[in-house]
Amino acid sequence: MSWDSLADDIRNCRACDVLAASRAHVVVGTKPAGGAAVMLVGEAPGATEDETGFPFVGKAGALLNELLLEVGMPRETVAVANVLKCRPPANRKPTRSEVANCRGWLTAQVAAVDPRIIVALGGTAVEWFFGNGSKISLLRGTFHDIAGRRVVATYHPSAAIRFGPKGMPRAALREDLAMVASASLEPV
Ligand code: URA
Repeated sequence: MSWDSLADDIRNCRACDVLAASRAHVVVGTKPAGGAAVMLVGEAPGATEDETGFPFVGKAGALLNELLLEVGMPRETVAVANVLKCRPPANRKPTRSEVANCRGWLTAQVAAVDPRIIVALGGTAVEWFFGNGSKISLLRGTFHDIAGRRVVATYHPSAAIRFGPKGMPRAALREDLAMVASASLEPV
């Protein structure tokens, strides 16, 4: 299915009663018109994303954009999506059933973008790809093959903000994005 018709279906989703009732926008995600070798996957929309309808446009998004630029992989060149397309009230963690209800959408988005590399940002996305209980600290810093794609597990930009500019998550996230940026330039 194409990204655009998938987006229409996602916008009409009402699988989670609570989220469908409280959301302002369904945040489908973004994909460059010409396609993308790299797809970033976060957890769920926050307040700014819910308000605007676009992923990673709040504080975490600003840091993400800054790091992407620093490693030479500008935001406009990558596809961006989340595990959940609707904001959980008060930014609580997505529940297991919400993640399960939304699973098919991200699966279809990955197929529609067909990226060579996927970056799972934070615990929720990492568990989505690697299974419940997976640990970023044990998985990060390298590529993992999942169904023929290279998947990277790394810290969420919010963790990088929480631990500060000199904290470990920010350095690790930057390093992992730099690894992805250079791999994305390799000939296919
Ligand atoms: N955090 C996420 O995981 N995704 C967003 O889109 C914004 C903040």
